[in-house]
Amino acid sequence: MKIFTAVLATETNTFSPISVDLNAFKASLYALPNQHPQTPTLCSAPLTVGREIAQARNWELVEGTATWADPAGLINRETYERLRDEILAQLRAAMPVEGVVLGLHGAMVAAGYDDPEGDFLSRIRDIVGPDILICAELDPHSHLTKKRLEAADFFVAFKEFPHTDFVEQAQNLWRIAEDKLMGQTNPVMEVFDCKMIDIFPTSREPMRGFVDRIRAIETNDPDILSISVIHGFMAGDVPEMGTKIIVVSDNKREKAATLAQKLGEELFSMRGTFMAPQTSPDEAISLALSLIDCDDALSPTGRVSGPVVIADIWDNPGGGTAGMRPFCSNKL
Ligand SMILES: [Zn+2]
Repeated sequence: MKIFTAVLATETNTFSPISVDLNAFKASLYALPNQHPQTPTLCSAPLTVGREIAQARNWELVEGTATWADPAGLINRETYERLRDEILAQLRAAMPVEGVVLGLHGAMVAAGYDDPEGDFLSRIRDIVGPDILICAELDPHSHLTKKRLEAADFFVAFKEFPHTDFVEQAQNLWRIAEDKLMGQTNPVMEVFDCKMIDIFPTSREPMRGFVDRIRAIETNDPDILSISVIHGFMAGDVPEMGTKIIVVSDNKREKAATLAQKLGEELFSMRGTFMAPQTSPDEAISLALSLIDCDDALSPTGRVSGPVVIADIWDNPGGGTAGMRPFCSNKL
């Protein structure tokens, strides 16, 4: 069995003015074939897990380039096309293969491409033909477009946010791929569009319970191979942004579609209850002043603590912006 794997990933904040070029990918992760380190990064676990599977099964794993840029603004067109074409050329050279297992993020946007992953996957489909397995791991903060769904056999996304389970879900991705390639299952994917935008931390209720319930369904129902919640990435201004449910079943399309709808409607019914309580700017400043012992006597209480940082949620470089600005500290 010969499988091709590669990684092409970043998370694009289309409101950020910081352009992503090839140097940004090289500064974060740019590993040529067989040069990826043993430790996976967020989106490259399909490659490192794939090495373990290939070794255990004595399969041939052909590695393509694995690359990731830290989140910022649009990828410039030349960079996206160059990285895409580099990996496509590696795949063409590896043909024929029985499967393609990818590490994607799913929220990439490039100049001239609202849906780079859809473009990438459909070109891969054109190369391998209709019968070869194509699957990918996704970050839930991604855009699940029709083009991607048409091109790939199935997707598995991280369940936890913060993303503590990217290796576990890469293992699930490979488990489903292995069973398919061994002729034991026929994974089919159904999707329900919740037509909503929200933020879903899984460290607190109600999302904790929701994820625990979908994990229990995966464990207890042999027809259900995988359930993913695509949260959506609201800093990506693209037409198909939003929350969607993926159910991958073993050849049970109707059951998968029914379950995806049921779970999606359950999520929709809880809309607006997922985020942690928010602090208003006035409350945040009052709280900060009460904690700071500044030389200019901003704080009459004289309490010492620091540094104190006031940040808007979208001041987070992990979401593609430039970073946070320290507000005031007796240490600075
Ligand atoms: Zn994410």
